[in-house]
Amino acid sequence: MRNPGITIIGAGFGGLCMAIKLKEAGYHDFVILEKADDIGGTWRDNTYPGCACDVPSPLYSFSFELNTEWSRLFAPQQEIWDYMRHCVRKYGLAPHIRFGTEVTALEYADDRALWHVTTAGGERFTTHAVVLGMGPLHIPSYPEIPGRERFTGPAFHSARWDHSCDLTGKRVAVIGTGASAAQFVPEIAPRVGRLYVFQRTAPWVQPRPDIRLDEIRKYLRLPGAARALRYVIYWFLEARGAGFAIHPRLMKTQERIAARHLARQVPDPELRAKLTPGYTIGCKRIVLSNDYYPALTRENVELITDGITEIRERSIVDATGREHEVDVIIYGTGFKVTDALSDFTLIGRNGLKIQDAWRDGMHAYLGITTAGFPNLFFLLGPNTGLGHTSVVFMIECQVRYIMDCLRLLSRTKAKALDVRPEVERRFTERLQRRLSRRVWNQGGCRSWYLDANGNNPTIWPGFTFEYWAWTRRMRPEAFELIGAARA
Ligand code: NAP
Repeated sequence: MRNPGITIIGAGFGGLCMAIKLKEAGYHDFVILEKADDIGGTWRDNTYPGCACDVPSPLYSFSFELNTEWSRLFAPQQEIWDYMRHCVRKYGLAPHIRFGTEVTALEYADDRALWHVTTAGGERFTTHAVVLGMGPLHIPSYPEIPGRERFTGPAFHSARWDHSCDLTGKRVAVIGTGASAAQFVPEIAPRVGRLYVFQRTAPWVQPRPDIRLDEIRKYLRLPGAARALRYVIYWFLEARGAGFAIHPRLMKTQERIAARHLARQVPDPELRAKLTPGYTIGCKRIVLSNDYYPALTRENVELITDGITEIRERSIVDATGREHEVDVIIYGTGFKVTDALSDFTLIGRNGLKIQDAWRDGMHAYLGITTAGFPNLFFLLGPNTGLGHTSVVFMIECQVRYIMDCLRLLSRTKAKALDVRPEVERRFTERLQRRLSRRVWNQGGCRSWYLDANGNNPTIWPGFTFEYWAWTRRMRPEAFELIGAARA
């Protein structure tokens, strides 16, 4: 490969947004490396039945590319994927994308202020800047349950759905009851013979106000209407996010809505008790669903809360010693998030490995840059995940910020910029102080938001307009300019 000026890794929402903004700025010397054979990221990988966005689509899309064609407020996966393809076509991104190209190593050359990129295919080339748009939820996490490898029937993860496996009439086990399982359980329950849902922790579930948008499409096409709807949704979700951003006490209303939903949908007190969470709502992602609870009340569905001790050739054994014979196992067990880069070769200045830089947990200034790794930018990096609204908003803030960084390089003729360690440290300390008082840390649950040390390196603790304000203008003094002709 010819040495591109900028290398973007990943063709999901993040990578595509970066590419669009580069092109808009008249910069064409970039490549998007995508390990799969299609664009879409999480919206390509997750094809399980019932997969849909749990954030309203008018907001879960680019602000500069409003879509009036959503069929529903919470669009299904296929529509979101189609929207992303539309963006690729409209903004002419296809010539920049290299499919089937997995990056295995990124190594910074101090003498030349360049990055060496190595791919799984053995290619090696240099680039001035790297944008990591791999997304935080792309490596499936499988539970470490004794005997898991011994199971002889089909077994797959929700993000690697095996569509060749016909579930009709089968005895199926679902392990995990997070946002993904809550979407596919109602879809498969009527089809399977028997469904065993293994729940370790009950999720909080709220009603999903999934109104049809196709019926009001002609109004949405009126000038300004789609933008107005986006604003209304944005501010509504920000207001609802007060319990996340200000104090867990403000979660009480949210909890009441969920408790009422449970009481209304699950009349059986025993089942209801099993489904009642023992932590503050919001500590784990809130599930939005109108059909998850009803699916669990079906005759052919059993909720098992006793924990799994062993998986055998054709069965799962729970903590009471009961053996459940099953034909298929589906893992709805989420993703590797806080240790996503643990196996990746990422070496910055003076041979600094990311694993050493992040020995005490992931961190990055504004979630975008980390000291010792010049011209390396994260999209949806550390502490930019959200519990209450759309991460596409965060991506747009980050891309605007990265564009400002690139403009600074061009203006100063510097070769690279590296965030000053003390700036990053102050930012991280402030963020962690705020997080320590928020629901993810204080809500009494254990989730993938927290790392092995109990730190929270995943979530943005405030309103998203605060993040917008933080990233609106880059501060050149926060960075060391490497090889600058003038500052
Ligand atoms: P998840 O929220 O991490 O849930 C994983 C589930 O697996 C949890 O119920 C967890 O139990 C369970 N689990 C993990 N290890 C287990 C073990 N060893 N034994 C038993 N149970 C185990 O994963 P997810 O549902 O795939 O969702 C991941 C994220 O994807 C969500 O938080 C959300 O951000 C995103 N998502 C978004 C949408 C959308 O519409 N935008 C839809 C789906 C997912 P514990 O709770 O006890 O750990």
